[in-house]
Amino acid sequence: MTVIYIAGYGRSGSTALELLVAQSPSVISLGELVQVDRYGSNAAVCTCGKPVVDCNHYKNLSDLEKPVFTNKFSYLFLSILYFLNIRSELSGSVSKAVDGLPEGKALLDSSKSTFYSLFRPFEYRKKGRKVYIIYNKRRTKDTLASLLRGSNRDLEKGMSFPDKIKTYLLLPFRVINFFFFGRASLYVYKIFFGSNVIEVKYEEWVDDPNEMIYAIGRATNISTEKIENAYGENRLYVGHAVAGNRMRANKYGQYVTLGKR
Ligand SMILES: [Zn+2]
Repeated sequence: MTVIYIAGYGRSGSTALELLVAQSPSVISLGELVQVDRYGSNAAVCTCGKPVVDCNHYKNLSDLEKPVFTNKFSYLFLSILYFLNIRSELSGSVSKAVDGLPEGKALLDSSKSTFYSLFRPFEYRKKGRKVYIIYNKRRTKDTLASLLRGSNRDLEKGMSFPDKIKTYLLLPFRVINFFFFGRASLYVYKIFFGSNVIEVKYEEWVDDPNEMIYAIGRATNISTEKIENAYGENRLYVGHAVAGNRMRANKYGQYVTLGKR
């Protein structure tokens, strides 16, 4: 049983990357699964249009009864306990997803690399799964410029004056998070996961992802024909995800197109 983990910092095209990989019938994509641990049954609506508690994907694959943590810092604390072997499980969603995964399917978790999701690939491996990490990288300058524009959530609802103040106040922390966790995690993963880390560069795949798709297919053995077709038609099914994202917003149960063509 395999887990494909999309790592790297957000604001780097990772949602488009996730959507591409998710078109393969070999994978089950649950978006940023780490968010389920945060919201639990309060997690509003799955991108298929159903409330998360009624979505079959989540019913079996995640622990909706009790959120494991409600803020990011408590999750970081749990991560450290987990790493020190004081706590045997880091999150409910990892064990549920691993136990509930249908035969022959790979789980796609795109929780990326931030200070509270860094340890998830380790947790899957501890659960006896084969883990492939697709580490997505974007030019530093462009990622930082994207950070300056504000958080995804603020951008979704339209940035107001207090949001702008908040953006600038939080910026130093986001920049530290980017360098310390987003970037440094690549080297951590390379040490622990070796050749199972597939490094991809946004600038190289954004205009034509076919070469990247082949590389992912070769490394992970997922079938890529459907990905190529979906990209060719520029018609990507949004699938099942909880995390809010501008690319998925208001596209319940629909298809999205990739902007840059
Ligand atoms: Zn769903």
